[in-house]
Amino acid sequence: MFGSKKASIKHDGYEKGTLYRTCPHCGKRKPLSEFGLRAMKPGGSVREQSWCKACRSER
Ligand SMILES: [Zn+2]
Repeated sequence: MFGSKKASIKHDGYEKGTLYRTCPHCGKRKPLSEFGLRAMKPGGSVREQSWCKACRSER
């Protein structure tokens, strides 16, 4: 198994030191800061929001 407890965030790769991810809703590629991350307990896993902030605020 993978012993690392690092955050398991799906992403499309780094660009200029920033992680990018494609929003499944709008299909746009955005930095992870546009998605908002939910940190579980300290030291725990970090889950990414599936949609970007713009899409989530649409509803
Ligand atoms: Zn979106």
